[in-house]
Amino acid sequence: MTAQAPIIGIVRHRLTTDGDGVTTLVAFHTCTLRCKFCLNPQSLEKLEDFPIYTPQQLYDEVAIDNIYFLATGGGITFGGGEPCLRSDFITQFRDLCGDQWNLSIETALNVPQHHIERLLPVINRWIIDIKDMNPLIYEHYTQKNNNLTMNNLQFIAKQGLQERAMLRIPLIPGHNTADDCNRSQAALQAMGFTQFDRFTYRQVNKETS
Ligand code: SF4
Repeated sequence: MTAQAPIIGIVRHRLTTDGDGVTTLVAFHTCTLRCKFCLNPQSLEKLEDFPIYTPQQLYDEVAIDNIYFLATGGGITFGGGEPCLRSDFITQFRDLCGDQWNLSIETALNVPQHHIERLLPVINRWIIDIKDMNPLIYEHYTQKNNNLTMNNLQFIAKQGLQERAMLRIPLIPGHNTADDCNRSQAALQAMGFTQFDRFTYRQVNKETS
């Protein structure tokens, strides 16, 4: 069955934001988390306000940059919202674009494992925002527990695919400390992950209750 998905934005000609080459960001509606500082609040707004795409419709639109993707080793970065919820859509999109485009995904990994199993064969680069590995900090910040995130991290590690993952470890003002971030990184290193992006959230969005 052809997948369909609501898309909140398509941003072309991104450089060096998420790996090599020229990329196009495709951001899906819907998220499993409710972060206190949501970086993409559109993903939580009314669904009816956004266009629905099939994989073919998306491919027809983004293929305008095919030459840039091939020349630079770039491709598509799927974000959101939580793009792993769209595993059917993304696997059908891979069938359309073939192997030459680099497909990346920006995810919090807080989804049922079957989505990750489906996506591992088709995604080249995983950019994983783990928020914080401390379950209490995580739940306070995202309003959801991190059980699925932990299971999925362990699943990726068991497959020996750590080298495909970049782990984002944010310092979140008012929610964690640099020491917490160090502890998160140490826990991830113990699982065999080696690539980390440490940064501080800027409080551009109002904190939700
Ligand atoms: S994971 Fe991203 S899109 Fe989802 S609530 Fe958090 S900041 Fe917003």
